[in-house]
Order: sequence, then structure tokens, then C-alpha cells
Amino acid sequence: MTRSIIKAAEWALGPEAVEGPPQAVYSALCMACGTEVPASDDSPEPVEAWALKHTGLNPAHRQYKAMVETYWRVTPAEGNPYREFDV
Ligand SMILES: [Zn+2]
Repeated sequence: MTRSIIKAAEWALGPEAVEGPPQAVYSALCMACGTEVPASDDSPEPVEAWALKHTGLNPAHRQYKAMVETYWRVTPAEGNPYREFDV
């Protein structure tokens, strides 16, 4: 059995590019009552519309915690021995 220990290798960090997960997931939380809008994949518009409607129905609820979730992937860079295993 051959064992290799790689002390240092070049890696690159970037946005997830595989199909499947959305590029971004948007959501928001009303800071007055804690109500959270259902998350929206790849578009903030449904979340923005919800916040505007929520304030329209509850005029004292005007502050939101806006959240955007994105996905990253670390891949072997040029010269990294793991690069040959990436498909
Ligand atoms: Zn609220």
C-alpha cells in the first residue's frame, strides 16, 4: 500500500457551478414579529413583495433581516494532484 501525504496544494474557491442547487436563496425575517418569508430560489422579488405586503398589513413592521444564501465549491487548482480526479 502506497501512502502519500500532501502538505500543500493549490485550491480555488468559487461559486458552485454544478446543476442542482440554486445560485442564491433569498429570505427575510420581520424584526417586529419574527415572521419569516418562505425562501425564494434565485430571485429576491418574491421576498421583497412579501416584505412590502407585510408592512402594508402591519404598518409598524418596517424592519427586516434580509438573508442571501449562496453556495461555494473548492476545486483543485492547476498543479494540484487532485485535479486529475475531478471530472
Ligand atoms: Zn411582522
